Amino acid sequence: MRALNTSTLGRTQGPPWGARKRQVMDWSTIDLGVLHSLPTWYPGGGTLRVSEHPGSGCFGDPPGYPSYFVRHVYTANGDTPHRASAPELVIAEGEDAYVLAYVRDYMTGRTALLRRLRRLWAPLPYEHERVQLWIRSVYRHQRNCYRDDAGAVTEPNDGGTLIFPVPYYKLRSFVDDARFSEEWRAAERTAIAAYNDDVRARARAIAIPDNHSAVRQIRAYYPEHMPDLQLISNPGDQLEGDWWQTEAERPTIEACTPRSGSRFGAADHSTQWCQWCGRNPGKEMSDDEIDLRDGLPLDVHDPE
Ligand SMILES: [Zn+2]
Repeated sequence: MRALNTSTLGRTQGPPWGARKRQVMDWSTIDLGVLHSLPTWYPGGGTLRVSEHPGSGCFGDPPGYPSYFVRHVYTANGDTPHRASAPELVIAEGEDAYVLAYVRDYMTGRTALLRRLRRLWAPLPYEHERVQLWIRSVYRHQRNCYRDDAGAVTEPNDGGTLIFPVPYYKLRSFVDDARFSEEWRAAERTAIAAYNDDVRARARAIAIPDNHSAVRQIRAYYPEHMPDLQLISNPGDQLEGDWWQTEAERPTIEACTPRSGSRFGAADHSTQWCQWCGRNPGKEMSDDEIDLRDGLPLDVHDPE
């Protein structure tokens, strides 16, 4: 409900989150009915500010996921607001900021926030070009990674992820020394080989397509996803850019303005590969090459 919001009266400059700048985000993936049911907030003359850069914790999320739209609320010093009742995360749509989480919500955990983001999501169809580009990017990022559901968290950042083929640093190797006897050498070599065989056999049993980290991640949003064996064995390189995250279609060079807050700024399209629109002046792909890459017959897009 867009009720009268008295805190917005007397504005002369527009909202402080860059809404007057060119906004190319595609809002069709946001359920506006759910968004408009959230409490609104306007910083007014207070000291709190809203980030000009949308996107929070969105790495790896599917195209148009609400996390790409989330903005942080800051104090004038750049800190999280101190008051527990202050908003911490908002989605700014036009003149309005809708509160996703208050500072106090941080104490109670992120589960409610994640649920709210999910409710705000109006998914693109699985077959949509943006979804397919996302899927390929997930396979690239998760190359050689599998979920090890029974895996013990033995090292930091190692919880439940198995790399396959098994990297050398997970295997033992024989280190010789002049003081070792021949018998000891032989026994040690046998023990090491047996250990490495065990490690590899266990990894092989886990590293099946259904356990591939990309498959798991994609299925969390699109349960119908079937493992793509070709992408598992050869996910390719990043050629296609990240525009699919928030834009309805691949921007033209003139319109290419990378999502604020993304790791890469606007590229010089005449000399540099552009992380956002994916253009690479050194090796621009022809339509035929794109079709070949997608595994489509060359005449699929050619009605002649
Ligand atoms: Zn570009």
